[in-house]
Amino acid sequence: MIIISACLVGEKCRYTGDGFDYTTLRRLVEEGLAVPVCPEVLGGLPVPRDPSEIRGGNGFDVLDGKARVKTNQGVDNTAAFMRGAAEVLAVAQRYSACMAILKERSPSCGSKMIYDGTFTNHRVPGCGCTTALLLREGIRVFSEENYS
Ligand code: SF4
Repeated sequence: MIIISACLVGEKCRYTGDGFDYTTLRRLVEEGLAVPVCPEVLGGLPVPRDPSEIRGGNGFDVLDGKARVKTNQGVDNTAAFMRGAAEVLAVAQRYSACMAILKERSPSCGSKMIYDGTFTNHRVPGCGCTTALLLREGIRVFSEENYS
């Protein structure tokens, strides 16, 4: 089974209240080969919501308590992001998933790049919180840009 970011397969769970529709990825779900998850919703955040970015590091740093996740209004969402990551890991373990395809650049789901925490559209190398947790548990993580 493959874990997949729900927003990539049409679920309107992004902070903006919309989603994407990658036909090939949606087919994986329809064929029962992938299960869609949204860590931020699983962590208890609403849709729509203020955008969040990781400040002071990457997803691994958040897991280790060395960085925080904050909204553009300065609200600390670290606990919700950690909860969401743990929920996704639980789903992955329930389905014995060995790989995930997650949305690039998200503070939860990014795998190669994330935003730098300044809300100035500046990207830096690094991964999101859910990606970091899955990687630590031995699950391979790809994005919609490099899974094929
Ligand atoms: Fe949810 Fe991840 Fe998509 Fe953000 S990128 S909406 S956390 S699935």
